[in-house]
Amino acid sequence: MVSKQLVEVMGGTIGADSTVGVGSVFWIELVMAPAPRLIVAETARGVPMLPQGQGGAPLRTVLYVEDNPANLELIKQLIARRADLRLLCATAAASGIESARTHQPDVILMDINLPGMSGIDAMKILRADPATAHIPIVALSANAMLHDIEKGMEAGFLNYITKPIEVKQFMVALDAALSFSQTDSGHTAYN
Ligand code: MN
Repeated sequence: MVSKQLVEVMGGTIGADSTVGVGSVFWIELVMAPAPRLIVAETARGVPMLPQGQGGAPLRTVLYVEDNPANLELIKQLIARRADLRLLCATAAASGIESARTHQPDVILMDINLPGMSGIDAMKILRADPATAHIPIVALSANAMLHDIEKGMEAGFLNYITKPIEVKQFMVALDAALSFSQTDSGHTAYN
């Protein structure tokens, strides 16, 4: 039986259950290949992607709060080029706030349109909490109208980067936020 061979080659089994006067039920069982591990799922739990710095450079931590997998992937690739940085990711505001409190990142990159709570509200909570008030937070948003940018800056973001992310502009803004964080390490709010 060709189908039996095919199923067995695929690592499964095939059989039939017959009941007189009723008919037969044929069945196959296939063994699924293990699903590829999703990097996004891994980083969403706040697992550091790079455990150590290289060449003695002090390891600094960037937390990215973003629900869009494509943006997460882009930033992951950009940060991976930097041996002095490690990236933490969260896919919602609540888990981002929790990760910021736990891991004390040097800089937070915050999407605005997040499920549940907006990035602006999350930023306000972080800025109001003495444990996280000193951490510079940079908005990364598709809301690119001047009004959105002004509103975000007024609300308390250190900087506001619009999507689509322009790599050079992003790296300049990230380095500015990192050096801001370095000069302001005394756990004081930045404004
Ligand atoms: Mn979003």
